[in-house]
Amino acid sequence: MILKKADPLVDKLIKAEIKRQGETLGLIPSENIVSRAVREALGSELTNKYSEGYPGKRYYGGNKIIDQIEILAQERARHVFKLGKNWHVNVAAYSGSPANLAVYYALLKPGDKLMGLSLPFGGHLTHGWKASITGQIYTPVQYTLNKDGLLDYEEIKKLADQEKPKIIVAGATAYPRTIDFKKFADIAHEVGAYLMVDMAHIAGLIAAGAHPSPFPYADVVTTTTHKTLRGPRGAIIFANCDSKIAKENKIDLAKAIDKSIFPVFQGGPHDNQTAAIAVALAEALKPSFKKYGHEIVKNAKALAQELKKLGFSLVSGGTDNHLMLIDLTNLGISGKVAQDKLEEAGVVVNRNTIPHDTRSPFDPSGIRLGTPSVTTRGMKEKEMKIVAKLIYDTLLEKQPQIMIRKEVRKLCAKFKIF
Ligand SMILES: *Cc1c(COP(=O)(O)O)cnc(C)c1O
Repeated sequence: MILKKADPLVDKLIKAEIKRQGETLGLIPSENIVSRAVREALGSELTNKYSEGYPGKRYYGGNKIIDQIEILAQERARHVFKLGKNWHVNVAAYSGSPANLAVYYALLKPGDKLMGLSLPFGGHLTHGWKASITGQIYTPVQYTLNKDGLLDYEEIKKLADQEKPKIIVAGATAYPRTIDFKKFADIAHEVGAYLMVDMAHIAGLIAAGAHPSPFPYADVVTTTTHKTLRGPRGAIIFANCDSKIAKENKIDLAKAIDKSIFPVFQGGPHDNQTAAIAVALAEALKPSFKKYGHEIVKNAKALAQELKKLGFSLVSGGTDNHLMLIDLTNLGISGKVAQDKLEEAGVVVNRNTIPHDTRSPFDPSGIRLGTPSVTTRGMKEKEMKIVAKLIYDTLLEKQPQIMIRKEVRKLCAKFKIF
């Protein structure tokens, strides 16, 4: 009401976006729908405060309450991932990319080797891709996937033995299968490299026990808070204070990472964001979140199975987690064309390269689909079958687009967001 008066134009645009979210099926696997409680914390007066530094060590006055909020977020993060006191938690990073860069800065010198999954194979920009600063300051060593679209731990080991990187990053933005963190740890530690797990995409599944945890094996874990974890945009960095590699390198991991976030990369933390992270973590501690995490996976498996029945080709043949990649090569349409057609029909996905893609990242051979948002809306396996059919009808032009759009609207109306 107040915004409408103060700035009718922005108000109108926000309302249009709310309407769009409500009336479309969001299948982008990195997106989710946060609770009103999270949004309330995010939109709170905490945005008015400056609190450079950390709890008990601030550069500004008036931070006694902010300290409590930040400590609460740290403690809840430890609870959610069942961590002992040996894990140091930093909740101050603005988002996932700066969090990753801060870890590299803490542990590497310019030119040191950083090994991660190559972007066209599902890795993130910040895992050493050349377009990212992480591939420019550091020397990237990039592993790929085998012909079946799977991580090949023997190949990864060979590459690590040969290149001797300082950090190996395990984690991805477009990998539909379970990641074996123990194998990664063995490979990394044998060459004296840190294992950094970037669990941004699967943090919510790990919190729910629907994907194995990296914490028994990793030296550092980073995550965004806004994907399957269903919080505000933000990030958390976890540092294992018992890390042998850190001890060998005489590095105090906790101190080095805290310092890297502030004062090296950032000024004041976004306290409203920290509070909203704390709220999301409290939600993730509830039994209902455990159920949610498992339902995401069940829905993804149901969607994958139905798509396969309809003749779609899935990278690696299916999924173990929240996402899948459709290889559109056999349909003779590109990822971009598919994304646009689906958007017209009200199904929002993103185009994506597939392993060993022969097309460009701007117009690749695949699309990426995930179930975190539709699962938050309450959809179950039954609806996933309908969604698969809607995708099929759209891409193979089995029904007029306008009819499909109507059906999407009807389905969305049954599973309201707001
Ligand atoms: C999303 C993501 C990030 C980056 O997060 P931003 O908040 O968009 O900067 C980093 N790593 C992985 C694996 C991601 O999926």
